[in-house]
Amino acid sequence: MSSLSAEHEEVRRAVRQFTEEEVVPIADPYDQANKEIPAGLIKKMGDLGYFGLIFPPEYGGAGMDYVSMAIVTEELSRGWLSVGSVATRNLITGTLLLAHGTEEQKRRFLPKIASGEILTAAAFTEPDAGSDTASIKTRARKDGEAYLISGAKTWCTFANRAHILTLMARTDPEPAKRHKGLSILLVEKEPGDGFDPPVISGEPIKTIGYHGMRSFSLSLQDCPVPAKNLIGGVENKGFYQLMATYESARIQTAARAVGVAQAAFEAALKYSKERVQFGQPIASFQAIRHKLADMATEIEAARRLTYYACEMKDRGARCDLEAGMAKVFAAEMAERVTSEAMQVFGGYGYSQEFPVQRYWRDARVFRIFEGTSEIQREVIAKRLLEG
Ligand SMILES: Cc1cc2nc3c(=O)[nH]c(=O)nc-3n(C[C@H](O)[C@H](O)[C@H](O)COP(=O)(O)OP(=O)(O)OC[C@H]3O[C@@H](n4cnc5c(N)ncnc54)[C@H](O)[C@@H]3O)c2cc1C
Repeated sequence: MSSLSAEHEEVRRAVRQFTEEEVVPIADPYDQANKEIPAGLIKKMGDLGYFGLIFPPEYGGAGMDYVSMAIVTEELSRGWLSVGSVATRNLITGTLLLAHGTEEQKRRFLPKIASGEILTAAAFTEPDAGSDTASIKTRARKDGEAYLISGAKTWCTFANRAHILTLMARTDPEPAKRHKGLSILLVEKEPGDGFDPPVISGEPIKTIGYHGMRSFSLSLQDCPVPAKNLIGGVENKGFYQLMATYESARIQTAARAVGVAQAAFEAALKYSKERVQFGQPIASFQAIRHKLADMATEIEAARRLTYYACEMKDRGARCDLEAGMAKVFAAEMAERVTSEAMQVFGGYGYSQEFPVQRYWRDARVFRIFEGTSEIQREVIAKRLLEG
């Protein structure tokens, strides 16, 4: 079932082959050993242009459309969510730079972000500022030609391996300024687990899934950042600048959810034809057949919502509503579908012999990151009520 063009089908074929050869074989062993994605795989993804799919060729990107980006993301996530997620951070930083960076910043950073030579991490969340971004406390104080950053960040995924932390900090110390006192800075650092204490210290957070990438609690103490790394070169615009990334990041997250759910569905479909109980494959029982039908229907609905948001984005239309709908629906769909897939596997679904438990553990995060489902619904409702 497809309404995609021949070009988009070719994109899918190529990335599916890459995923089968490079991602699927390592996903389970690496997940179970809690090992991070190998550097060689990230390099290959960079060489294939996966980090700069939608960026314009003049800045080193592939100049492809959002539908292609969603297809690539979906297929990589079908192999392993962590691999489908590596490019999310470069997408966020690149989109920010494209929309709000100075020309000098675009030329300095974008080509390397597009090639994967520079890997970035997003340092927005703080221990006391999650959904409520406006309450961020991390301080960026101007000191000559630099900013000195001090404060605590949390859930900074990929912080250890990143060359840049795309970091939101308070440039106006007046707490009443809330979202009007925030700026985004590109904090350049050396990749490595040791960080650079006390300037930047990091501790990994133990998680139930998403094992190919580690998330860190970070502490920064007078971390110097050249003033030329302030996005757009103007203070106190960070909150508004970040909004430029929401549509892209939500579309990409919806595609990740579709990919994980698709993997779970395919596993359940195959197993239902092989597993025999009461003398017949369990696929012959109506209860199982209906689960498969519901799973496939929900996945296709989420995929179509995602592609619809992509098509709007490709036309240059505002699509925060559609991207939000795709994200919230796909996130919740992925949790339901992966759980039902485990049910089809019965007891084996709960064992580590089969990857279906990985899909379920990984899928749970979709309702939490890139805007929780609750916040997403608020955003959607606000748009609907605007009239
Ligand atoms: C695996 C993982 C990776 C992550 N990676 C990153 C990353 O790379 N960079 C980064 O900056 N962050 C990252 N995050 C953080 C993520 O974005 C936050 O967890 C998320 O924004 C929610 O913030 P919080 O955890 O502080 O929850 P809170 O904001 O404290 O929310 C707690 C609960 O209250 C609800 N709630 C809060 N406010 C409202 C409201 N106004 N109305 C209704 N309900 C509300 C929430 O929906 C949630 O259910 C990651 C998180 C996880 C789990």
